[in-house]
Amino acid sequence: MESKHRILSWDEYFMGVAAITAKRSKDPHTQVGAVIVGPDQRILSIGYNGTPRGMNDDTFPWAREGETLRTKYPYVIHAERNAVLNFRGLMRELHGATVYVTHFPCNECSKELAQVGIAEVVYAYNPYPDSMETRAAEAILDAAGIKTRVVPVPDITIAGDYEA
Ligand SMILES: [Zn+2]
Repeated sequence: MESKHRILSWDEYFMGVAAITAKRSKDPHTQVGAVIVGPDQRILSIGYNGTPRGMNDDTFPWAREGETLRTKYPYVIHAERNAVLNFRGLMRELHGATVYVTHFPCNECSKELAQVGIAEVVYAYNPYPDSMETRAAEAILDAAGIKTRVVPVPDITIAGDYEA
């Protein structure tokens, strides 16, 4: 019998989880979500861009311009880094894993993904393809042999599926 439900592919599912995780971010400009997935399609960890523990992300300086200490840049933890830091298993489990991330990683996150042994980066958007950060990230991912590919955020609505 044919299911009346649309079954998501793994790519759609994991990018969907990354996108909904991004919705937790208090950053008013860019909400980024990341999901680390093991080779057996298990979710190993999740992260979004936010503040370090103890800093209130409601009163946090989310500005992108002005005096450096009053911008977000010295403080914010990117989604991919948070996903690595939130991981509660053995680091070797990250070896060979895939990261689904809403936005192409920056160079700093790319260094970390390379060092923990991530095998593939799947992303939905690359908003700054010509930036220094992106070009350096591409060089880092390429040198580490990390594959990259694009998967769009799936266009799904699920709320109505649960009405009585
Ligand atoms: Zn980053």
